[in-house]
Amino acid sequence: MIKRLCIIGVGLIGGSLARALREAGYVGEIVGSSRRQAHLQEAVELGVIDRFDTDPAKAVEGADLVFVSVPLGAMGEVFKAIAGALTPGAVVTDGGSAKASVVRDIRQAVGDVPDWFVPGHPIAGTELSGVSASFAELYRGRRVILTPLEQTRPEAIARVRAMWEAAGAQVNEMSVEHHDEVLAATSHLPHMLAFALVESLARLAEQREIFEYAAGGFADFTRIASSDPVMWRDICVANREALLTMLDRFNTDLDALRTAVDQGDEVTLLRIFSEAKAARDAF
Ligand code: NAP
Repeated sequence: MIKRLCIIGVGLIGGSLARALREAGYVGEIVGSSRRQAHLQEAVELGVIDRFDTDPAKAVEGADLVFVSVPLGAMGEVFKAIAGALTPGAVVTDGGSAKASVVRDIRQAVGDVPDWFVPGHPIAGTELSGVSASFAELYRGRRVILTPLEQTRPEAIARVRAMWEAAGAQVNEMSVEHHDEVLAATSHLPHMLAFALVESLARLAEQREIFEYAAGGFADFTRIASSDPVMWRDICVANREALLTMLDRFNTDLDALRTAVDQGDEVTLLRIFSEAKAARDAF
């Protein structure tokens, strides 16, 4: 049980964790923090947090667990602000979508990666943002990846694991590097494709007509292109290397598909589509 949880960044991810833990009866008090008072006031009115402070150093006072769920580009400034204000014994974790950049940011802010910091990432979300989009069931049955370092205290890992399990999630551990490679393939690349496709079609002269005739398949494939642009800019910057590897690999495969279309190579087309269908059906 968490006595006082501080959530810095009470949006979709932070707000959903607060709601889930409250519903599970796993938390005493929840204190929120972010830049804009209006957002925090809304979170209080929705019953997501109990109180707030726009100064993160004040918000973490007395908290036994701190969850940082701001965009990746803001992690460093938050770590700098809270490092000297934490209660002894407090555990800090985050929900950022890339992990090497977060580890680098806390190292820069604190001097080394502290043993009380447990990097984490819930593999759950929607294309919506803000506390009004948060809901208690977001993590139910979903995975959360923790990427502890050698120096991370086992007790800190256990507390973060227990928190996520109380929210209904299944927790796995892997290295920072492996996390960033896996997520580049399964999440970051698909988002790049959706953004690129919708942007490309939107620039076509006949865009209105194109979107009028767009049906279920288009909507399924492009839903994630409605995701928050700031968050995705930050993910591209944070996970640049792994994402470039996946984009290059995908370009090669797309070129092969283009060649098959160009040459009317029915055998290759059928092979690619059959292999893709088998993989998707198995998934
Ligand atoms: P969100 O709904 O936009 O919430 C972000 C929150 O951070 C807002 O409450 C915002 O409030 C606050 N914030 C922004 N900049 C800040 C700063 N400089 N200092 C303090 N607070 C700040 O975003 P989200 O979807 O919850 O994403 C949060 C994190 O979770 C990101 O790191 C993202 O990579 C990760 N994540 C997202 C998903 C997803 O599908 N959305 C999934 C897994 C992980 P103010 O505007 O009031 O500051």
